[in-house]
Amino acid sequence: MTSFAGQPQARPQAQTGSPAATIDWARVRADFPLLQREVNGKPLLYFDSANTGQKPASVIETVDMFYRRHNANVSRAVHTLGSEATEAYEAARAKLASFTNVRADDLILCSGTTFAINLVAYSWALPRLGPGDTILLTRMEHHANIVPWQLVAARTGVTIKVAEITPEGALDLDALYAALTPDVKLLGLAHVSNVLGTVNPVREICREARRRGIVTVVDGSQALPHMPVDIAAIGSDFYAFTGHKMCGPTGTGVLWARREHLDAMPPFLGGGEMIKEVRFDGTVFNDAPHKFEAGTPNIAGHIGLGAAVDYLSSLGMANVAAREAELLAHFQEELRAVEGLRIIGTAPAKAAVVSFLLEGTHAHDLATLLDLEGVAVRSGHHCAHPLMQFFGVAATCRASLAFYNTHEEVERFIAALHKVRKLLG
Ligand code: PMP
Repeated sequence: MTSFAGQPQARPQAQTGSPAATIDWARVRADFPLLQREVNGKPLLYFDSANTGQKPASVIETVDMFYRRHNANVSRAVHTLGSEATEAYEAARAKLASFTNVRADDLILCSGTTFAINLVAYSWALPRLGPGDTILLTRMEHHANIVPWQLVAARTGVTIKVAEITPEGALDLDALYAALTPDVKLLGLAHVSNVLGTVNPVREICREARRRGIVTVVDGSQALPHMPVDIAAIGSDFYAFTGHKMCGPTGTGVLWARREHLDAMPPFLGGGEMIKEVRFDGTVFNDAPHKFEAGTPNIAGHIGLGAAVDYLSSLGMANVAAREAELLAHFQEELRAVEGLRIIGTAPAKAAVVSFLLEGTHAHDLATLLDLEGVAVRSGHHCAHPLMQFFGVAATCRASLAFYNTHEEVERFIAALHKVRKLLG
């Protein structure tokens, strides 16, 4: 077997690079079963894709098919099911690699960005950094790219410094470059902010850091769902992303690292799968990426993520980006016309993520009332307390769009917002 018998294939919608306008987005939307449901008696308006993305039928059916026909552990069994599972799992790794323009052997499959960044913190930073060294993080990082470094700092005496942002929510690049002093050994930065939607110029920043010998860890969680990402071109040292925001199953993700790091870093977790030979007087580890994949992985999930990559590739990420740019422009224009509404994050380069506040209303109250209208938005601190502190707010409402949303939904969202505003008096 080279592929799942009867494995559902993503339905080709368009060739990569063809204009978004030629894609039938209504048909694309119909690929997502969950979007057909109602919530509180109203058609669901799912504006929370930055939290987790919805899944097309091809991904759901791929996971279903794996458990129905092929379920076995990877890498261990020589029987047919075992080799089918291993082949499909490694094929998913290869798809992820070509989707992001890197070598499959340099991709570690893991449970998501949180795991990926912790792996770098424990395997790369902990043995290397000490007092006198600095880790620089941007103000707009998710807690997943802050707390692991604080744990490293607590054990090593490393100092953590912050690269600030402008009031619009863009990185202050002059300040950032000025902060890349010789004591800085690692820079952690988001490719796209999960709160502001700001798209950071990661390629330029990584080049500046590299010129100074600073290792870069890019959190790509919010980039992969929205735009083509060429990790090789970005030129970071590490790039992490999560599968569930890009149409894949939960508990899936990737850490890419430069080969020199993969070879030099000790394993993060020990156990089965990550060894060549175990003796009580010493163990020989497997080569990367397997050295970093101890234990039974999320086999079905990553095979499902491979199907998500097929699906997104069939749309073409440039088309996805163009579609979302249109939806975002429409959405922001409508939001700006709502009296008393403040958008937080107005940088020019933005993905389809919009944080906002409505005067006199708590974000949670707003989200609760919107839910009664069938609207799903996230409210809270979005795992970005330092960013909330910068803007002087405890919480925001965040509406995040994906290519499967529609202009009509944007209109309905605004109508629901007006209704809720009236209710709140
Ligand atoms: N970084 C960013 C920017 C995110 O948006 C998220 C998910 N909210 C994460 C990291 C963490 O991802 P996961 O929970 O999948 O590990």
